[in-house]
Amino acid sequence: MSELFDLYQEVILDHNKNPRNFGRLEGSLEGEGRVRHADGYNPLCGDRLTLYVDVVRDEAGGTIRDIKFEGSGCAISKASASLMTEAIKGKPLAESEKLFESFHELLTGDPSVKAKASAELGKLAVFEGVREFPVRVKCATLAWHTLQAALAGGDEPVTTE
Ligand code: ZN
Repeated sequence: MSELFDLYQEVILDHNKNPRNFGRLEGSLEGEGRVRHADGYNPLCGDRLTLYVDVVRDEAGGTIRDIKFEGSGCAISKASASLMTEAIKGKPLAESEKLFESFHELLTGDPSVKAKASAELGKLAVFEGVREFPVRVKCATLAWHTLQAALAGGDEPVTTE
């Protein structure tokens, strides 16, 4: 179990140090208006991020063609945003929605749903240990809540409070 925990730590530290899909989606904020963005803030920890999502409409009901984020925060929040973008880039919206549900269950659900959620999450399951630390759960879910806001097209910044 502790070896697994070490492996999880390693993945989180790696994504914190070398975040994937870090930056903004250039040149598409105006014009066709396909790229949506939203700001997320976790006041408990001070994590801030801006998420950019390029969604193409298709028969699947929309697919995330590209996604990037920028911002600053703790290792958990940054690694979570990085792993999230990696997991959902190129995926249909419906699938990203399901991943978010599983992710939420992994972090806050009771142990029986947690095991099932963990199996569906692949690499995202590295955040399992975070459930022991309620304050850290907000760091780990910030990117996902911000994604929801970006997709909903709201202008209000999201906070985890
Ligand atoms: Zn944090």
